[in-house]
Amino acid sequence: MNATFPAHPPSALRASSPLPGEIGGEGTAAPGATVVRIADIGFEAPSALLARHGLELVRVADNAAIPGSYWGEPEAGVIASRVYARADTPVHSLLHEACHLLVADPARRAAIHTDASDSLEEEDATCYLQIVLADAVPGFGRARALADMDAWGYSFRLGSARAWFERDAEDARAFLEARGLLPRPA
Ligand SMILES: [Zn+2]
Repeated sequence: MNATFPAHPPSALRASSPLPGEIGGEGTAAPGATVVRIADIGFEAPSALLARHGLELVRVADNAAIPGSYWGEPEAGVIASRVYARADTPVHSLLHEACHLLVADPARRAAIHTDASDSLEEEDATCYLQIVLADAVPGFGRARALADMDAWGYSFRLGSARAWFERDAEDARAFLEARGLLPRPA
């Protein structure tokens, strides 16, 4: 399936679970959209990041199907605490799916397969956390994460990932803080 991201009320996003009537919505990745892919930064750093959070990054061979990929290749897939990705998987996609697993209720994680999202609230929190964790990936970082999310077609009420992150994401931040999921400031 080609990547198609529905537009989402109320604030962010990109849902792993398209809402009724939203399938086939706008926000399709532009052909040839230039985003940072794992091949650009290597598997080692994202593997280490995921491992620090109790997740396992599983490398999938080039051109092979990606297990658990909701959006279809080259987007990352999720099954329980494993995140599957290829060298051509965008880094934002890897972080997004990994963050879904981190945001999910720990009791539910083991049962997750392909579709990780439980609610729009979780979707918001996932987008927020992926932006924060981008800073832990050398060669990527928050500014690039925001730009890549826009380039790929994530849909935000305020028009850009940066505007949403800076001005419309209080609920997402509160959700993550309440669960202790935000890294402490260095
Ligand atoms: Zn999602």
